[in-house]
Amino acid sequence: MEYRRLGSTGLQLSALSYGAWVTFGRQVGRSDARELIALAYDHGVNFFDNAETYNAGDAERLMGDVIADLRLPRDAYCVSSKVYFGAVTDPKPTQRGLSRKHVFDACHQALERLRVDYLDLYFCHRPDPDTPVVETVWAMDTLVRQGKVLYWGTSEWPAELIEEAHRVARDNHLVAPSMEQPQYNLLHRDRVEREYASLYENYGMGSTIWSPLASGLLTGKYNDGVPDDSRLGRAGNEWLRDALLEDDGARLKTVRALAPIAAELGLPLARFALAWCLKNPHVSTVILGASKKAQLEENLKALDAVKLLDDAVMRKIEAALKPL
Ligand code: NDP
Repeated sequence: MEYRRLGSTGLQLSALSYGAWVTFGRQVGRSDARELIALAYDHGVNFFDNAETYNAGDAERLMGDVIADLRLPRDAYCVSSKVYFGAVTDPKPTQRGLSRKHVFDACHQALERLRVDYLDLYFCHRPDPDTPVVETVWAMDTLVRQGKVLYWGTSEWPAELIEEAHRVARDNHLVAPSMEQPQYNLLHRDRVEREYASLYENYGMGSTIWSPLASGLLTGKYNDGVPDDSRLGRAGNEWLRDALLEDDGARLKTVRALAPIAAELGLPLARFALAWCLKNPHVSTVILGASKKAQLEENLKALDAVKLLDDAVMRKIEAALKPL
């Protein structure tokens, strides 16, 4: 495993980490979750990503249960939560958003579900148009000073709002956000590469990127239709299937254009796509989302493939992505 600093912080995260989104508590039950976390940890993964909203808190409960059962030493791994969407299906006004009230309640609830005394990383899952940024920054600062959160950050915030959070923190001597959690993959690059370009240098922001395989599109498994036992084929995920596949075939066309480049390097498409994410030096950690042991074993090999992506290969990739 390779370890990378989370932006300008001193925290060393494994370059490949592991998340629980639509898998833990739904697709992945307890014994599989235990096996997957153990496998990741044994391969050097030290960051496990979660959120209050993932399966209405069940993903955090399951992860907390499994990590406790595995007796992972608390000083050897990091765990995150995210606040904004709420942990119940139909949240009341105080059970969602980024008000001081919900940021506090959500933190305490996540600590309980994950069975830890502090969260290593705590994210504002989306911007909240109904809460002033200054209120959220104060709330996060307080949690850090109370020892309940070590590093706080944002997820999918526009760059100007992140800058505002930094200004508020600087003017009031508060703890500033250390990291963003944006989507980043071969089919979705703009925010990480362009919109956030100045944030890495100016504020030392790190990034913990999500959906590195675009929910599996970048494995090639959807090229000939949607398999029943896949993420996009599962009941309840229709919204995600529509969001990713209702584009007149544009994404799949790009996936097909990338496949020969991976094949030429002798790499499975998934490993190639993950290596491409890892090659970006602004990526602190790539959060994997495997639902099966064989997938995780395969994906954990991606670090070895980064060296194959030389300038000539990167030029070929750019050419294949052009039509997007
Ligand atoms: P990916 O894009 O890597 O998608 C993971 C899914 O792709 C798996 O569950 C599996 O689905 C399929 N897959 C993975 N590897 C393989 C393989 N080798 N061969 C075939 N299929 C494979 O990651 P996620 O979308 O899960 O995102 C990763 C993490 O990021 C999440 O778990 C979560 O922690 C975080 N996240 C954060 C968000 C945010 O807003 N901050 C939003 C979304 C995710 P299947 O087997 O079911 O087909």
